[in-house]
Amino acid sequence: MKRVLITGGAGFLGSHFCDLFLERGFDVICMDNLVTGSPDNIGHLFGNARFHFIQHDVTRFVYVDGPLDYILHFASPASPLDYLELPIQTLKVGSLGTHKVLGLAKAKGARFLLASTSEVYGDPLEHPQKETYWGNVNPVGPRGVYDEAKRFAEAMTMAYHRFHGVDTRIVRIFNTYGPRMRLKDGRALPAFMGQAVRGEPITVFGDGSQTRSFCYVSDLCEGIYRLLMSDEIEPVNIGNPSEISILEFAKEVIKVTGSPSTIAFKPLPEDDPKVRQPDISKARRILSWEPTVGLEEGLKATLEDFKPRILAGEAR
Ligand code: UDP
Repeated sequence: MKRVLITGGAGFLGSHFCDLFLERGFDVICMDNLVTGSPDNIGHLFGNARFHFIQHDVTRFVYVDGPLDYILHFASPASPLDYLELPIQTLKVGSLGTHKVLGLAKAKGARFLLASTSEVYGDPLEHPQKETYWGNVNPVGPRGVYDEAKRFAEAMTMAYHRFHGVDTRIVRIFNTYGPRMRLKDGRALPAFMGQAVRGEPITVFGDGSQTRSFCYVSDLCEGIYRLLMSDEIEPVNIGNPSEISILEFAKEVIKVTGSPSTIAFKPLPEDDPKVRQPDISKARRILSWEPTVGLEEGLKATLEDFKPRILAGEAR
């Protein structure tokens, strides 16, 4: 039986990977310090004999008993609000944490996959973003703690590959949404859906002309699974290339929720990227992968998970 370690396994994406690897017959070890992750995301797995949870902060020495075939390194605060509130932890987990987990991969002879991000492209001057673009990041701005930590993590991953021969993969994840996102993580979708369901004004930052490209979580997981099983060492973008302005996105959420909410414009946060859209031709070519879930379908599925949580006044 193959064993996989998922750091950040109690988070939004990590917990979906716990499900996916259990479904595909793996033994799953989920590691999380529960700073932004939650036991609620993995509670349904606790009775499963192939699932193990270790509460641990990966910036400290990581110990796992027995063999490991794969390691998915997903631990990190990941929303702009989170890394504003946890700037040091964000830098530490991307740097010290990635170093520790790479050390574990080397010791176990495990294949290592780094969850990197479209944020490595910063406020991009190339559009859409290809993997060959080096990015436009402000290292000393408020988002720099996340962007630079992930850029460092990519460099560290390549160094472990080149110097120690560790078998590595790097995925650059673009905006993703779906069930289990934290309602209060400050991101556009949870903010908009909460406001829409409660009938409050939708807070669009700036004039809403900035764009993003939103990928449904099941599409993302399949793309990343295929990358893990491929032999591609260089970074690969995984995301949905269908680009939408934030104002249009707010209107989509209003439509899907059937809400009477209006739009309230608020100041644009510092260094907020003006455009973002993945060029996924590499993933299409080498992984035969592309997203299949459209925005309306994905928003409806997300609403089913969100609505009871919003109405219950969930605090996280
Ligand atoms: N945004 C917004 N209202 C909100 C939260 C976010 O208009 O209540 C905007 C934000 O300024 C950005 C976009 O929505 O332009 C996506 O933000 P998010 O925090 O989801 O992620 P990002 O792509 O910026 O990392």
